[in-house]
Amino acid sequence: MNFTFTEMQEMIRDTAREIGEDIIKPNRARWDEEEVYPSEALEALAQADMMGIYIPEEFGGMGGGALELSIAVEEISKYCGGVAVCFAANALGSYPILLHGTAAHKEKYMPLLASGKMYAAFGLTEANAGSDAGGVETTAVKDGDHYILNGTKQWITNAQEAGVYTVIAVTNKGKGARGLSAFVVDKDTPGFTFGAKEKKLGIRCSVTRELHFQDVRVPASNMLYKENRGFRVAMDTLDKSRPGIGAQAVGIAHGAMMEALNFANTRIQFGVKISSFQAVQHMLADMAIGVEAARALVYRGAYAVDHDDPNASSLAAMAKVFASDTAMKVTTDAVQVCGGTGYMREFPVEKYMRDAKITQIYEGANQIQRNIIALDLIRKTAQ
Ligand SMILES: Cc1cc2nc3c(=O)[nH]c(=O)nc-3n(C[C@H](O)[C@H](O)[C@H](O)COP(=O)(O)OP(=O)(O)OC[C@H]3O[C@@H](n4cnc5c(N)ncnc54)[C@H](O)[C@@H]3O)c2cc1C
Repeated sequence: MNFTFTEMQEMIRDTAREIGEDIIKPNRARWDEEEVYPSEALEALAQADMMGIYIPEEFGGMGGGALELSIAVEEISKYCGGVAVCFAANALGSYPILLHGTAAHKEKYMPLLASGKMYAAFGLTEANAGSDAGGVETTAVKDGDHYILNGTKQWITNAQEAGVYTVIAVTNKGKGARGLSAFVVDKDTPGFTFGAKEKKLGIRCSVTRELHFQDVRVPASNMLYKENRGFRVAMDTLDKSRPGIGAQAVGIAHGAMMEALNFANTRIQFGVKISSFQAVQHMLADMAIGVEAARALVYRGAYAVDHDDPNASSLAAMAKVFASDTAMKVTTDAVQVCGGTGYMREFPVEKYMRDAKITQIYEGANQIQRNIIALDLIRKTAQ
């Protein structure tokens, strides 16, 4: 086992840190308060070639994997979980094309995505298809060499900002998950429009909107993999991207812990620093234990995903569950360590707590991740 970063991984971490210090930290409170899309941070990441971390070199990317992407997401999340999801959602939208697209799909989109000239988004969720992803109702009906899409997707990150969307729709009604197909849809396709920007608890600089499809004609050649195998495309994509949500949670937890630590080392009560009280020290110690353990599991999950480990799906789910539950506990305790100051919006800790919550919900709520882990355990041990 090797616990040291490669040169490339160090470069990714240092670049993200620099952008975090110079651009994200001075702006994050305003972006959060005013719900401003963090274009400045994303453009800086693109300038530094960070948009293509997970994209093969032949398409202008860095040729890294889920581990390298997780390192970047973790570092960005130390500064702002909202910026991190705008960045990471590009990978979520791109993985279906990378994993199941044709050479033509990859040649068309990957160079644009790697350079940051185009953003991507992933459209699976609908009003009646959240955890039950097989319940998708958006339809794709074959019409000559096109499919006609009708329906509405809900809560799609980067909607309207992205130039390309991977969308899951029904091609064989009544077959549930076995009747879904995945399509690549360009933003400017006639009939494809967007809903209003959602107002959220946290990650408020990120954009979340509905996708509306009204008789949207998509060339049949835009289908990914095969007809009625869209659920597989979606599940393969989520397996790949789940360690990234764990990494977002680790970064958020780390950021909150450092704020709490600095506060405890300067706040005086009863004539001494509050860091001299054992009750506070133990909270800080538990935060550090949680962050280190979560980080180790996220890197383990990402490594498994990158090396086609047969346990990758389960390990990625474990990483997401453990890191997100840790982030919620660490950020809540960080507010506690900072007392009333921590509760105030002018101090960054309450934002970490608000941003942490989403990591337990999206890309499959933690209850669903536990189902995945348990079913895998049972399947492998049942006689
Ligand atoms: C800010 C934000 C951004 C998002 N971005 C995207 C995106 O880019 N693309 C996209 O496709 N989706 C996106 N989503 C959707 C997200 O993935 C879903 O919200 C998530 O999968 C949970 O679905 P749901 O919210 O409908 O919850 P529900 O499915 O309604 O679940 C509600 C509760 O019931 C529990 N539950 C449901 N079924 C079970 C079960 N079988 N066993 C135990 N417990 C269960 C859940 O764990 C949860 O606690 C986003 C959501 C948000 C809030």
